Amino acid sequence: MIAPAPHIGRLERRLIQLLDLFSVANLKIKMMGQDTILTYHSVESTPSGYRYSVAKELFAEQIDYLQARFEIVSLKSLLTEKSDQTRIALTFDDAYADFYENAYPLLRERNLPATVFVPTHFIETDSSLLARDENIEKPHLTWQQMHEIMANSAITFQSHTHTHRSAVNQQNAGVLEADLQQSIDSLTDNLGIKPDFLAYPYGLFNSQTHQIALDCGFQTLLTMQDQPVGRGPVQGRLDIYQRNQTLPYFKLTVAGLLGPGMRQKLRKIVYRR
Ligand SMILES: [Zn+2]
Repeated sequence: MIAPAPHIGRLERRLIQLLDLFSVANLKIKMMGQDTILTYHSVESTPSGYRYSVAKELFAEQIDYLQARFEIVSLKSLLTEKSDQTRIALTFDDAYADFYENAYPLLRERNLPATVFVPTHFIETDSSLLARDENIEKPHLTWQQMHEIMANSAITFQSHTHTHRSAVNQQNAGVLEADLQQSIDSLTDNLGIKPDFLAYPYGLFNSQTHQIALDCGFQTLLTMQDQPVGRGPVQGRLDIYQRNQTLPYFKLTVAGLLGPGMRQKLRKIVYRR
């Protein structure tokens, strides 16, 4: 989660449809062929009003689109192996229960890998991150569901810190280190895995938080910076969100054409009087 999801106006939607009509996204993907990590939060069958959710039907359409044009691989394989194909890795932050209900069945059926980032405190205490942050009651996965998912699919679980507080605010006096260690211990104790990927809550980080996380043993640190996969331990991801995000909008986002900078420019053009 970073900036508030923008409202898509009618004119902006038209412009996006026009770009889609000329297959601009496909052209860009063919020309550039950049590996990309996508971030989802919640996949919903009933709208909750949560900005970072995607409707279940739209999620299925998005996966159809991705499968037709990319190789969908695990985060680990995207970062450690080479390929001639353009690849996509799917990630899901916050480990919401609707992942089990609305995303997992489709991913399992198609044998698609994905990585879910777990804020372990909320699973341990059966409490809700969104109730704390935004007054929306959205339950999380249980350890039992995670066990079931791991046993039956190519989906893995990694760390999203323990308490889902800003890493930058916690970087002093060993607070972040203790929080990260708690998340590692919790995933080890409850799922029998040692996480090597960390997704920063709210995408917030700096060079000190990177150092603390690397010292805790994490190998890759995931931010929400809109960029394709590069070198080094810090990797950006593209945020997929908002119920009213249409398929054309999604295609342009995946092609790297609708990052925050571009969205702002587009809105300036659209709303200039
Ligand atoms: Zn999060």
